[in-house]
Amino acid sequence: MTDAAPIVIIGGGHNGLVCAAYLARAGRKVLVLEASAEVGGAAVTREFTPGFRVSSGAHLLYALDPAIARDLRLAKHGLALARSGLDTVALADGEPLVLNGAIVRSGQLSDADRTELGAYVARQRRYAALLAKPGTGAGFSVFRLLGRMVNNRKTENPAPVPLLQLAFDVRRLGRADMRELLRVGTMNLYDLLDDRFESPQLKGALALDGVLGAKLGPRSGQSFFTSLQRAGAYALPRGGMGTVTGALAVAARAAGATIRISSPVSRLAVTGDRVTGVVLDSGEEIAASAVVSSADPKTTFLQLLGARHLDAEFARRILNYRSLGCAAKLHLALDGVPGFRGVPAAQVGERLIVAPDLDYVEAAFNPAKYREFSSSPVLEITVPSMHDPGLAPAGKHVLSAIIQYAPYDLADGWDAGRDRLLQSTLNVLARYAPGLRAQIVDAELLTPVDLEREFRITGGHWHHGELALDQYMMLRPVRGAANYSAPIDGLYLCGAGSHPGGGVIGRAGRNAARVVLGKVRP
Ligand SMILES: Cc1cc2nc3c(=O)[nH]c(=O)nc-3n(C[C@H](O)[C@H](O)[C@H](O)COP(=O)(O)OP(=O)(O)OC[C@H]3O[C@@H](n4cnc5c(N)ncnc54)[C@H](O)[C@@H]3O)c2cc1C
Repeated sequence: MTDAAPIVIIGGGHNGLVCAAYLARAGRKVLVLEASAEVGGAAVTREFTPGFRVSSGAHLLYALDPAIARDLRLAKHGLALARSGLDTVALADGEPLVLNGAIVRSGQLSDADRTELGAYVARQRRYAALLAKPGTGAGFSVFRLLGRMVNNRKTENPAPVPLLQLAFDVRRLGRADMRELLRVGTMNLYDLLDDRFESPQLKGALALDGVLGAKLGPRSGQSFFTSLQRAGAYALPRGGMGTVTGALAVAARAAGATIRISSPVSRLAVTGDRVTGVVLDSGEEIAASAVVSSADPKTTFLQLLGARHLDAEFARRILNYRSLGCAAKLHLALDGVPGFRGVPAAQVGERLIVAPDLDYVEAAFNPAKYREFSSSPVLEITVPSMHDPGLAPAGKHVLSAIIQYAPYDLADGWDAGRDRLLQSTLNVLARYAPGLRAQIVDAELLTPVDLEREFRITGGHWHHGELALDQYMMLRPVRGAANYSAPIDGLYLCGAGSHPGGGVIGRAGRNAARVVLGKVRP
C-alpha cells in the first residue's frame, strides 16, 4: 500500500459509480474498473435490434435516493425523466384497475377497499423509510457515532448497534404502527392482503410488488417484508436506464474519479492478511489503498478473493448465500402502438401488470420451486417509447417486460426452455393485447442465465442475492461481511449484495463510501 495508490472500485454499475463519486468528492484518488465495454451494470440502455433501444436490465426508476441525485447533481449531469409518476394498470379480462399509490384512477373498487388502500400505502411508505435506515449511518446521531465505534469487522459482529437503532426507530413509529409492524413483519402477503381487501384485482396488483425480483410467492413467509422495497413512484428516464448510470459516470468523473471500461478484474492481490490491489484479466497489476467491490458477494469472495483467504465458516456462509435469480426479461420491437383491451392509447405507456389475483401469482410461483416455470407467468410491462420516442424508429415502439418466476436452474436447461418461455409469455400478452403477435418485428428474451452472463451477476439475481430477513440489513450479505466491510483488511463491498439490496437506489454505494472514508485516510 502506498499513499499514491487509489481506492479501486470493482464494477461501474450504479452503486460502484455512486461510491466512486462520493469518495472522489471527499478528495480520495479513485479508480473504477468495469469489465464491460460500458458502465451501468444492470442499469443500461442497449440496442437489441437495429433501431430499437431498451433498458435491458432494470426498466423502471422508483427507488433512486433523491439525496444522492441532489448531492451528485445528476440533473446537471444529464439525467432527465421522460415521464414520472406512472400509473399502474392492472390488466384484467374485464376493466383494468388503474392505481397510482393510494389513488384509484379507474376500475371497480369498493369504498372499503379505497379507504383501506390509503392506509395501506401510507403505512408501507413509513415502514420502507424505516428499513432503509439501518447500516446507512443516517439515523439518530448517537447511534451513528456508536455505529462507527463498533463498526469493526474483526468482531464479526456489528449487529448490536444497528439493531438498537432499528429498535429505537421502530418505537418512534408510534404505538399503532409499531404494533402493526410487529404483527405483519414476517407475515405472508397473501394472508395480509386477503385480510385487508376485497378486490381480487387489487390484491393481485399489490402482491406483485412483494414478489417481483424475488424467489417468493405471495404465500411465502416474508413476502410482506419484500413489498417494502417497492414503495416509491415509478419513472422512465429519458433514453432509458443508461441515462441514470451515464449521469453517475459524469458525476464521478467531474469529482475526479477515473473510470476504465473493458477492464475485468480477475483476482484481488493479497499481501499478508490484507488486500493490497487487483490483477486484471490482462495480467496488469494495480496497487490499491483499498478495494471496494460492487460485484456480487459470490464473485467477490469466491472468485476474486478466493476461499483460501477466508475462514471455513465464512466461506460456507457465502457458498450458502441464496442467489439464484427467478426473473427473465422480454424485449419486443413493435411496428405500432400495442393495443391492450380496455386500455386507451394514452395509457399504454403506464406500468402495465399481469397479476390478476393472488392465486394466479401463487400458481405462477409454484413450478419455480421445482425448477420449472408456469405457462401463465406474472408480468410487469412498460412501453417506454410511448414517452420517449427516441428509443424506436418513428411510429414504432419497444416493449420491455419482466417475466416473474423464471428459475435460473430450470430443470431441462434454458437452451431448451427459452423458446417455451417466450411462447408462453406471448400467449399471455396476446390474451390482453390480441393483435400484439402480428406487430412484432423482433423479440429478445433474456433468461436468468443470460442475465448472469450479460451483467456478470452470479445466478442472474436482481438483488445479487435473495432479499430475505436472514440476508438483510446487518446480515447482508452474510454475517461477517455486513456494514460494507469484509473479513479481510482492505476490502469493502458496495453493490446490491449489501444493504439495502437491489434496485437502482444508490444507497449501498453511498453507505460504503462513508464506511471507507472512516477507514482509509487520504
Ligand atoms: C431483469 C432485471 C430487471 C430489473 N428491474 C429493475 C427495475 O425495473 N428497477 C430497479 O430499480 N431495479 C431493477 N432491477 C435491479 C437492478 O438492476 C439491480 O439491483 C442494480 O442494477 C444493481 O446495481 P449494482 O451497481 O449494485 O450492481 P450491477 O448493476 O450488477 O453492477 C455491477 C458491475 O460490476 C461489474 N463487474 C462484475 N464483476 C466484475 C469484475 N470481475 N471486474 C470488473 N467489473 C466487474 C459488472 O460488469 C457490473 O457493471 C432489475 C434487475 C434485473 C436483473
